[in-house]
Amino acid sequence: MNDYYEILGVDRDADQAEIKKAYRKKARQLHPDYAGPESEEAFKELSVAYETLSDPEKRRMYDLGGPDALRGGGAQGAGFGFGDFFDAMFGGGFSAGFGSSAPPSRTQRGKDQRVALEITLEEAAFGGVKEITIPSYVLCHACSGSMCEPGTEPATCANCRGSGVVVQVQNTLLGRMQTQAPCPACQGYGTTIPSPCHECSGTGRVRTTRTLSVEIPAGAASDVQLRQTGQGEVGPGGGPAGDLYIVIREKKHPVFDRHGDDLHTWITIPMTTAALGTDFQLDTLDGPTAVTIRPGTQPHEEIVLDGLGVGRLQRPGRGDLHVHIEVEVPTKLDARSRELLEQLAEIRGEEHVQPHHREQGFFERLRETFTGQ
Ligand SMILES: [Zn+2]
Ligand SMILES: [Zn+2]
Repeated sequence: MNDYYEILGVDRDADQAEIKKAYRKKARQLHPDYAGPESEEAFKELSVAYETLSDPEKRRMYDLGGPDALRGGGAQGAGFGFGDFFDAMFGGGFSAGFGSSAPPSRTQRGKDQRVALEITLEEAAFGGVKEITIPSYVLCHACSGSMCEPGTEPATCANCRGSGVVVQVQNTLLGRMQTQAPCPACQGYGTTIPSPCHECSGTGRVRTTRTLSVEIPAGAASDVQLRQTGQGEVGPGGGPAGDLYIVIREKKHPVFDRHGDDLHTWITIPMTTAALGTDFQLDTLDGPTAVTIRPGTQPHEEIVLDGLGVGRLQRPGRGDLHVHIEVEVPTKLDARSRELLEQLAEIRGEEHVQPHHREQGFFERLRETFTGQ
């Protein structure tokens, strides 16, 4: 037999409110109507634990001798019905009459918030921490979300005696008609706030800007959403905050184009460098990096620098940096350059245009067929 306190997940000195809250939470998870028949045993166990601990007398006996003390006293299985279950789930009133329920709470969960965050390519490549400042609702510090001026408390609404509803009786041709409507004095909440907090005008939260640090994962890209649980707006009545979604916008880089995790960049080299080759330093995201242009490099050739691209999102490793090479041919030649190039051409026998030599193509064969040549 498991410990009842463990079954409910509460401390041994938990008060009745805590026990009830813990039971509601667990009952939602374990109730066979929601969780399926396999949870039936666990739900029964939970019910027994709650039945015992929610009754001060039974709890005292349990504390003295554990569940055996109760069994000996014959208290086990003493009718724990669905009325108890619904009372615990929905805050009482359910078994008092179908259709009636506790008034709604003024405290509600806050809205989720969505903000855009612009990052640089460097931040996308390596990840990092960035501060953002956003307009938001935060908990009112003066009243800690109670909505009441410090030292005061909400009062039970006198108009509806805390039920949140008023019954209106109308005489019609068909007889007396009863209708229920939200109480106008308390807007259906069942309580009034006699002295609203001066700081938040009785709303439990204040509008302000807040700054928070956001961890940007390496590999982040435009439209990636970072969810920050509980960092959205604090709800009305100081309710729990919603979530914050940070939508990444990546700034265009002047030199590097990003395709997935790979980067592409273009360099132009003179035709002499293409022919002779050279070593030079290329500025990459990792700083100056040695690059070798081999002698005889052709236009549109590409050099791939492994692992100098963008970090992979939620995976180890990085993409590559592709260096695309353009070869520049001089458009204006001075007399000396022209002379040297003419000499070079002569040495290499390059004075004439060489046609491409190809296999005989389809059109040539077709022509021969028709002309008989
Ligand atoms: Zn306040
Ligand atoms: Zn009322």
